[in-house]
Amino acid sequence: MLIDPFKRKISYIRVSVTDRCDFRCTYCMPQKMKFLPRDNLLSLEELERLCNVFIELGVKKIRITGGEPLVRKNIVQLFKGISNNLGNGLEELTLTTNGSQLEHHAEELFNAGVKRINVSLDTLDKNKFKLITKFDNFDKVMRGIHAAKKIGMKIKINAVALKDINDNEILDLVKWCGENQFTLTFIEVMPMGEMGKRRIDQFMPLLEIKKLLEKNYKIVDDPLKTGGPASYVHCNETDQKIGFITPLTHNFCDSCNRVRITCTGKMYMCLGQEDKEDLIKPLRDSDNNDLLKEVIYKAILRKPKGHDFAIGREKKEKFVPRHMNVTGG
Ligand code: SAM
Ligand code: SF4
Repeated sequence: MLIDPFKRKISYIRVSVTDRCDFRCTYCMPQKMKFLPRDNLLSLEELERLCNVFIELGVKKIRITGGEPLVRKNIVQLFKGISNNLGNGLEELTLTTNGSQLEHHAEELFNAGVKRINVSLDTLDKNKFKLITKFDNFDKVMRGIHAAKKIGMKIKINAVALKDINDNEILDLVKWCGENQFTLTFIEVMPMGEMGKRRIDQFMPLLEIKKLLEKNYKIVDDPLKTGGPASYVHCNETDQKIGFITPLTHNFCDSCNRVRITCTGKMYMCLGQEDKEDLIKPLRDSDNNDLLKEVIYKAILRKPKGHDFAIGREKKEKFVPRHMNVTGG
C-alpha cells in the first residue's frame, strides 16, 4: 500500500503514453508544440510492467492519457496487457481521449475491459470546435462518441470552461449530455505551460456555471464519489450527473489519491508541482521489481500537500512550466 505523509492512500495512477496529439487545444498546447523524440518514450512493454508494479503496490484504478493516447501505435496492446489484472487487484482501467480515433478503437477497447471513458469536448459548435482544437474534426469526434456509446461504454464528457468561448453553450452541453445520458464535467482552466496568452483571459470560475444551472434547472448535490477531484450535482429534469473540477476556486487536494506517470517514465507526485522521480533507471537496471518498488515508496513520501495553482490579474502570471499534455490530464 502506498501512503503519503498526509495519510492519503495512493490507489490511482494516470499514465501518459505519449505527449503527441492530433489536436492543438488553445488552452493545452501551442500550435508549434515541440514533441519528444519517439526514442525517448517507454516501450509499451515497459509501460505495462510499470502499471503491473503499481497494481502490486495497491493501485486499483489506472487511467491512460496523454497527449492523445489513441494516436500511439499499437496502443490497444497495452490496454489488453493491463486488463489481465482486472478483478485481480485492478478495479478499473479507463481512458481520457479527445475522441478523434474512437470510431476505430471503441470496440477493441471495450473488449479489453475499458467500460467507462472520458471524452474531452468543449463545444457542440463545429466552427468553434475548429477554433479551439485547430482541427476540423468535430464530425469524426461525434462518430467516435456514438461508436463508444453504441458498444456500451459509459461516457463522461469533460468540458473546459472558457470565458467568451463556450460560456454561452453551457445549457446546450447539459441538454445534449442529458439526452445521451452522458455525465458532464466542467473543468476550470489551469495555468499549465506558457501559452503566450494570459490565462486570466480564458479563465471562467465554475461557480458561475453552477449559478446558471440553478437558474434553469432543479439541481441537488449528488454524493457520487468517483475517486476523482470532481464534486457532483444531479439535474432532475435531465436525470444526469454534472461534475465540477475546481482546482482554482475550490482546492480538492485533501482527498488526492493519485500520482502521474509520463511517457518517459517520470512520476509526478502532484500535477501542479515540479518535483518528480525518474523511474526509468530502476525499471531498466534490473528485471527484478524490488528496486523500482523501493524508489516508488520513497518518492510517495515526497508527495506535497497540494498544488499552488493561481490565476490572477498580476502582470507576470505564475504557471507550471509543463504543458498539460506532458504530464497527462
Ligand atoms: N488528449 C486527451 C484529451 O484531450 O482528452 C487526453 C489528454 S488532455 C491533456 C486531458 C484533459 O486535460 C482534457 O480534458 C483537456 O481538456 C484537459 N486540459 C488540457 N489543458 C488544460 C488546462 N490548461 N487546464 C485545464 N484542463 C486542461
Ligand atoms: Fe490534445 Fe487533449 Fe491537449 Fe487537446 S487537450 S491538445 S486533445 S492533449
